[in-house]
Amino acid sequence: MAKVWFVGAGPGDPELITVKGQRLLAQAGAVLYAGSLVNQAATLYAPASSLIRDSKDMTLDDITAWLIDQARQHDTVVRLQTGDPGLYGALTEMVRPLDQAGIDWAVVPGVSSALASAAAAGETLTLPEVTQTVILTRVAGRTPMPPGEELEALAAHRTTLCIFLSITLLADVQKALLAAGWPADAPILVVQKASWPGEEKIVRGTLQDIRDRCRAEKINSQAMIIASPALGARHWPEIRHSKLYDAGFSHRFRKATQS
Ligand code: SAH
Repeated sequence: MAKVWFVGAGPGDPELITVKGQRLLAQAGAVLYAGSLVNQAATLYAPASSLIRDSKDMTLDDITAWLIDQARQHDTVVRLQTGDPGLYGALTEMVRPLDQAGIDWAVVPGVSSALASAAAAGETLTLPEVTQTVILTRVAGRTPMPPGEELEALAAHRTTLCIFLSITLLADVQKALLAAGWPADAPILVVQKASWPGEEKIVRGTLQDIRDRCRAEKINSQAMIIASPALGARHWPEIRHSKLYDAGFSHRFRKATQS
């Protein structure tokens, strides 16, 4: 029976798609990829005989009509999305019409750009006794934030914040974090086109100067903003170590060698 697969393509590097996603592309009769953040995975892994289309000029109705139409002609139809389909990917809007049309579908997760951005900069999003929580969010643009999710309120937790879709709204990010009590010299990381071969840009700064630094680097799209008390920890004189590798800590696979 035909199936539409919503496949996470990963953040840009075609090698960061999952093995399963790659296999589905290789057997796809039709592929619709999200063109706003074009990735090469579709053309690299889909057979030359498959129909490959960019969705950048399509409305939601066009997209779902196309997927339904293709599912009536091919066993495997792939909707390729950037990063993970479950984050800012309009997945629910797309699958409801498929349900109504009786078309089977499933999701294959992908490497989110939040994770690829941390990886690019050699940072971790969690650090023992510093922050153990990651908030994936955005600031309000044309899409308003639900009550209680204003950046200022979330930033009050002082955890790691991965801020999507907001690089043109850096001034709002600055304002919200300052209002939440983050110091002006708090480290901020911006990564543009994380993992894209030859195109990735990493900008480090502080809450105060990150906007100027991004402006100097001409970064105004396709970028992740990470604010975190764990940024730069590899250069700190001292850090708390994870219990997982602590010699005095037993767990299922290892007995403590020190008390
Ligand atoms: N589903 C995607 C997010 C889509 S929303 C994911 O899981 O990554 C689009 C936003 O994601 C962009 O505005 C940007 O903030 C971020 N983004 C996507 N690809 C990126 C990349 N390669 N590097 C940095 N940020 C990226």
